[in-house]
Amino acid sequence: KNIVVAIDGYSSCGKSTLAKALAKKLHFIYVDSGAMYRAVALYFLRNNIDVHNHEQIVEALKNIHLNFHSRDYQTHITLNDEEVSDEIRLMPVSDKVSEIAAIHEVRKEMVKQQQRMGHSKNIVMDGRDIGTTVFPNATVKIFMTADPKVRAERRYKEIVGKNPEITLEDVFENLAHRDYQDTTREESPLVRADDAIILDNTELTPAEQLEFALDKVRP
Ligand code: C5P
Repeated sequence: KNIVVAIDGYSSCGKSTLAKALAKKLHFIYVDSGAMYRAVALYFLRNNIDVHNHEQIVEALKNIHLNFHSRDYQTHITLNDEEVSDEIRLMPVSDKVSEIAAIHEVRKEMVKQQQRMGHSKNIVMDGRDIGTTVFPNATVKIFMTADPKVRAERRYKEIVGKNPEITLEDVFENLAHRDYQDTTREESPLVRADDAIILDNTELTPAEQLEFALDKVRP
């Protein structure tokens, strides 16, 4: 049977860094589920989709075709054949994505696509509801946390190059806002699965986190 590693947690906890390293080491496929919600958010922004209009949402979802292209275990995602990997990391998308990820129709479609990706292959998938909703029977579940200030500093360093006008304060606010929306939404809120192992990486190096995770995955 194929192996599924589910990595969930708050925004900017280092989920994708760990997930990529783990996938690389184990030769598994890495799937960044957040990139899918971000690409949907980008489509909604560009096309002025009204988040309260059911018909518009259903129509939009029919017109959204997402594809991952894995190269060097980085996230390369296309939205209707357009490479959007950089644009989905910019602030307009980060500000809107959690609102769009809370929409029932959006989650239903993304979860369906995510489940299909993990159906027959060994994968590492990171997100917010992977261990609870997408793969409740995942082989290993890791729930990541870290000090909010440390998270904001890490994310700031990561994105300031592409968002030169941004401040550390903006990043902190955005993370706090997304965590609030993600943990309080009605459908599949961000919560630790009962059987998920907690990994607080505030004071751990990426190498130490990888070692911790490998230890859980390897029999
Ligand atoms: O992982 P990332 O921070 O890029 O995800 C962006 C947003 O997408 C999250 O803040 C959350 O609102 C949403 N998301 C989600 N479920 C997932 C992955 C991401 O709701 N499995």
